[in-house]
Amino acid sequence: MHRYDATTEVLAEAVMSYSRERMSMGDVPLDAPRTAAELQALVGQTITTQGMGGEKALRLFGDVLAQACITVDHPRYLSFIPCAPTKAATLFDLVVSASSLYAGTWMEGSGAVYAENQALAWLSGLAGLPESAGGVFVPGGTYGNLSALVAARYRARQQRAADLPRRWAIAGTANAHSSIVSACDVMDVDFVGVPVGEDGRLTGTALRETLARAGHDGVFAVVATAGTTNLGIVDDLDSVGAVCAELGLWFHVDGAYGLAGLAAPSVRHRFDGIERADSFVVDPHKWLFAPFDCCALVYRDPALARAAHTQRAGYLDVVTEGDEINPSDYAVGLTRRARGLPFWFSLATHGTQAYTDAVERTLTVARHAAQSVRERPQLELLHEPDLSVVCFRRVGWTPQDYRAWSQQLLAQDKGFVVSTTHAGETCTRLAVVNPETTEADIDLILDSMV
Ligand SMILES: *Cc1c(COP(=O)(O)O)cnc(C)c1O
Repeated sequence: MHRYDATTEVLAEAVMSYSRERMSMGDVPLDAPRTAAELQALVGQTITTQGMGGEKALRLFGDVLAQACITVDHPRYLSFIPCAPTKAATLFDLVVSASSLYAGTWMEGSGAVYAENQALAWLSGLAGLPESAGGVFVPGGTYGNLSALVAARYRARQQRAADLPRRWAIAGTANAHSSIVSACDVMDVDFVGVPVGEDGRLTGTALRETLARAGHDGVFAVVATAGTTNLGIVDDLDSVGAVCAELGLWFHVDGAYGLAGLAAPSVRHRFDGIERADSFVVDPHKWLFAPFDCCALVYRDPALARAAHTQRAGYLDVVTEGDEINPSDYAVGLTRRARGLPFWFSLATHGTQAYTDAVERTLTVARHAAQSVRERPQLELLHEPDLSVVCFRRVGWTPQDYRAWSQQLLAQDKGFVVSTTHAGETCTRLAVVNPETTEADIDLILDSMV
């Protein structure tokens, strides 16, 4: 199994040609999920004592299994937050796998870590953090948020060693991503909810008032969202950051989706104040055209994060005793794939201007979507888009109407758009992060909401 022999050569040919064909197809269908019973009937048991051979397994994958997975980079996949990798990034994902890299330590992966760090430095520079900032690529925003908040609590424990609170707490809004409440559960800390204004934004004033009123003496960090998942709202980072600085609280910015907008001049001003962040996350697998799974986690003071996260053991002494950068020291997790490399390769290949242009293109299409909603009497925008998420209602529709419409769209291979809820109401949203999505794609979907 481990030698490259004649059978491997045949399989390599098959896998490469499958990959090339899949990537070069002009219009890959959206595809759709199947039930477990259907898959059982079509595929059956695949793992046997003797094995079925790679070609047969690849055929089953291509003919059935892959087609039972929705194509996330389809231009009319507009649900959740899609993933639309550049071809260079996808190709390099193959290279990363073929290269047998370990990117947890400098000792083992210095070349990979060096390149990943340049990609992190680009993001950190866009945010206006000092050159000494740094971090690590983790699997997703969920891990990034948790790791940043663990570092924040570490600092608080250091600072308040003489006067530890009974309970620790994190402040944020109800619009914060579900991963923040999940992080609170994992860390066993309280969540102090701060109300948002009419415009859905967290402000420094509301934060100050809530903290005074809540009287929780264990608040150690504040999470602002730079692009909420549901509506794409960017909190008032500047005033929130100022209050955090005044009160000595860690200021974490969750920009898993939205901080890609730092690269786009037309929305850059919405992130004013990001330079105050103690940490932020942005997922290149969302709006920066990298394949899953890739979240950039950046700290203002990486030494603090390192102190919080470094795992210690006799077998690790050889790497933790030096002062090289070991990516695993900056987040929860030890073994790591060089998951930042596909993103780095694409950035190195195309240059940052191409990223700016691509993000701006999606913003143009999102603005078209908002305008198109405004022009249709049966549709109503729920929020003027800050970024590239457009949330709206179809007047008069019940949750069942949305569901039936969504299912029909997918069944007809027209689009993948699901419903969401906002303020207790079922509605829908279009998340435009794929530069291949056109104005015509949007209109095709809106036209179907009759
Ligand atoms: C998607 C998202 C997350 C979670 O990121 P994953 O990569 O899915 O773990 C966190 N915060 C926001 C604002 C998001 O949009």
